[in-house]
Amino acid sequence: MGPLLDAQEKIEQLTFARGRVALAAILKAMDVSRGDEVVTQAFTCVAVPEAIMAIGAIPVYVDIEPDGFNIDPGELATKITLKTRAIIVQHTFGCVADMKAISEIAEKFEVPIIEDCCHSFLSTFEDQMVGTIGEAAFYSYEWGKPIVCGVGGSAYSRSPKLAEKIEKIRTGYARGSILQDLRLSLQYRVFEILYRPQFFWQLRNVFRFLSKLGLAKGNYDPIETDHFSADFSRKMADSSQKLLQKKIQSIADVANISRRICDAYRKNITNGNVRHPASLAGANPVYGRYPLRVSEKVEFLAAAKKANLELAEWYVSPIHPLERMDWGKVHYSPGDCPNAEQRCTEIISLPTNNRVSDKYVQAISGLLNVTAGLQPANDGMDAQNAN
Ligand SMILES: *Cc1c(COP(=O)(O)O)cnc(C)c1O
Repeated sequence: MGPLLDAQEKIEQLTFARGRVALAAILKAMDVSRGDEVVTQAFTCVAVPEAIMAIGAIPVYVDIEPDGFNIDPGELATKITLKTRAIIVQHTFGCVADMKAISEIAEKFEVPIIEDCCHSFLSTFEDQMVGTIGEAAFYSYEWGKPIVCGVGGSAYSRSPKLAEKIEKIRTGYARGSILQDLRLSLQYRVFEILYRPQFFWQLRNVFRFLSKLGLAKGNYDPIETDHFSADFSRKMADSSQKLLQKKIQSIADVANISRRICDAYRKNITNGNVRHPASLAGANPVYGRYPLRVSEKVEFLAAAKKANLELAEWYVSPIHPLERMDWGKVHYSPGDCPNAEQRCTEIISLPTNNRVSDKYVQAISGLLNVTAGLQPANDGMDAQNAN
């Protein structure tokens, strides 16, 4: 295991308004600036290109592996130019990216790696914790991430010099107003009280409704390419930071719970039409969500919704949640990354948090096993209703 304690301490301190704000601060600390290129994978969330663009740089997309969820090292090498200043490596769902192959390319071209650890803290590659392998890493604490603190994010760097530069940038950032802070902590409390995998769909609707009314902080603001959210110069709210300091103490428990639940999913979901995540030699993943691939995604989602079981659909777009007509705003063109586009049509994911009971694992596994995709959609749903 890598230097967990050191990372933990810095992760608690180098906090920002959001994960994307932490990423933008890392890029600034690396002296990435206007016109520079930053390489990142498609099959990501819009927060990543937004951070790149917020500092004036240009996102360049690399496709994901033909059979996985992470950046394809072979294609990565072809996307690096003289303008490339950083490579963002996302450990999607907690699946570990091929850090050996990626590091070799990064070293060859002398471009630093930033690890996107928003989905996992304790996944390891060759006994090294993700986030401590590249030059720097960032984390997010919004709904759906391994540690939820309302909204917020952290930066980390194993290099004391870079960490100090990030800290210096952070010092110039403001805290949100007391009102914003209150609103966030209220939102967090409501989430903590209400969230159960069984309430996922209802909670999602309520949350979307409140976001629309401006009463809750949504995950995605509309992307503007000429001005960026004031969040990009903000630290994390006080209330969220206090929560983080408390919750990060139990990160090993969070990982153990996830391991136990994912082992049960692997054992119980036996449907031959549902593909479990592949393993990478040397990697020991801790899944923030357990990813599955199915050929009839729509059918599975409808069945889960009907049965009140949590099944997430992201990413629905190579730059989630942007619709095709908005891809150009973040420099993505249809067809750029075919694997990423294809994966969006087959990905579903399951919760791995402490609210997932054994009974819940049984229920969702049962549903996935009968929603074979070989039968017409209605059969799958009716079978579940009998449960
Ligand atoms: C959530 C997420 C982010 C951004 O997090 P915010 O805190 O919303 O800015 C970045 N990358 C990935 C892969 C994420 O899942």
